[in-house]
Amino acid sequence: MHLSRYLKQYPCRDNPDRVLLFSTRRLSKAIVPLSVLRSVEEGTLSPENMATLTRLGFLVPDSAAERREMLTVMTEAEERLKKAFLMAVMNLDCNLACTYCYEGKQRGKHYMSPETADLLVKYCEETFLRQGKDLTIDFYGGEPLLSLDLIKSISLRLKNSAEKAGTDYAFTLVTNGTLLTAAVASELALLGLKSARITLDGPKENHDCYRPFSSGKGSFDLIVKNLREVCGIIKMGIGGNYTEENYRDFPRLLDELVDLGLTPDRIAHVMFAPVSDTLGEHLMPEFNEGCCSADEPWLVDASIYLREEILRRGFFTPKVQPTTCMIEFKDNLVVHYDGTLYKCPAFIGLEGLDVGHLESGIRDFRASHNMDVWKKDECLDCAYLPLCFGGCRFMTLLQKGAISDVECRKAWYDATLEELLLQDLRYSLKK
Ligand code: SF4
Ligand code: SF4
Repeated sequence: MHLSRYLKQYPCRDNPDRVLLFSTRRLSKAIVPLSVLRSVEEGTLSPENMATLTRLGFLVPDSAAERREMLTVMTEAEERLKKAFLMAVMNLDCNLACTYCYEGKQRGKHYMSPETADLLVKYCEETFLRQGKDLTIDFYGGEPLLSLDLIKSISLRLKNSAEKAGTDYAFTLVTNGTLLTAAVASELALLGLKSARITLDGPKENHDCYRPFSSGKGSFDLIVKNLREVCGIIKMGIGGNYTEENYRDFPRLLDELVDLGLTPDRIAHVMFAPVSDTLGEHLMPEFNEGCCSADEPWLVDASIYLREEILRRGFFTPKVQPTTCMIEFKDNLVVHYDGTLYKCPAFIGLEGLDVGHLESGIRDFRASHNMDVWKKDECLDCAYLPLCFGGCRFMTLLQKGAISDVECRKAWYDATLEELLLQDLRYSLKK
């Protein structure tokens, strides 16, 4: 047996005779005596230890086979799971006037038409549901709840079609939260709404400054009022966009939420993400949870600090997990309001990066999206591959003007992974 190449080892800070092992492929971790690792090298490992380390993915029988398997691991997982995921941009309109809004130039009264919604339903029925695949749609905007009637109509039809096909239809919302009342959530829950993510950009005074209504009035109080009412009906996640200047204010938001009765047991997850100069106007603020990364040193401190503050208060935030680009998955798509198809929401409107239309289907995008960009020795031999798979194509595009290479996250993982794993260990032990 051999040590997996997708294994990270970190000496224990309080005990030099022990080491923290983390399998990036299995996402398993354990603290083991150094002597156990030595006996792997010497070939003297006990059968019990060998069985345990193999089960956790730390040991593999064949290193070359393990490396080969990585080439197909995602497509095989997708085939096995039979789950399709769509992001549907329902409109580019909004009732807020966020200061950093990504839509800038694109923003306006552009809505998905009933005809395009018909095409969307037909496409989903033919491509996914009748092929035995479960389907989740993430409705997105602008503000998706400005298209409430169309979301209801699409969901009712897809729910019925899924039932007939013996598959499952569910949907989620990325909403600013101002229109998500208890009545709306209850009605949508009957049609398959499972969860919604709202954005709070820091404590009240910060949020109201960044995310006012078009009238200039702050939106914090209304969002929190809705949040308190709907968190018992559907799962509610909270996101927030921080900058280098304001990230240290975010813990105050968490305290405000608790004071308002929004305790960790009522909130499904909290996850903050950066807005930065590098990402600039291209970023979709509600989408950047763990997807985009930016190569700026302050982000290391900010992300570790904020994750600690979230966990310390008992809120849930995802454990270390892969941030695999949705481009990699055949059945992951973005549908723009006009029916144009993309593989990533950040590509919307970028020339040459649409992949087809609901009416005509998908074209071959392997070359335009440089699909095999990570299938090279440097990545296949990298312990971070199962977390990274070549990083974010959009970041490469921003940095190099083309999807010509991977967005290497080595430096990012070197700087953050150990600390994030220690957080996961500390806080899961407390539960
Ligand atoms: S290109 Fe980047 S932003 Fe787009 S889906 Fe992939 S990882 Fe996410
Ligand atoms: S892009 Fe960089 S971090 Fe990611 S797998 Fe390749 S070498 Fe590793």
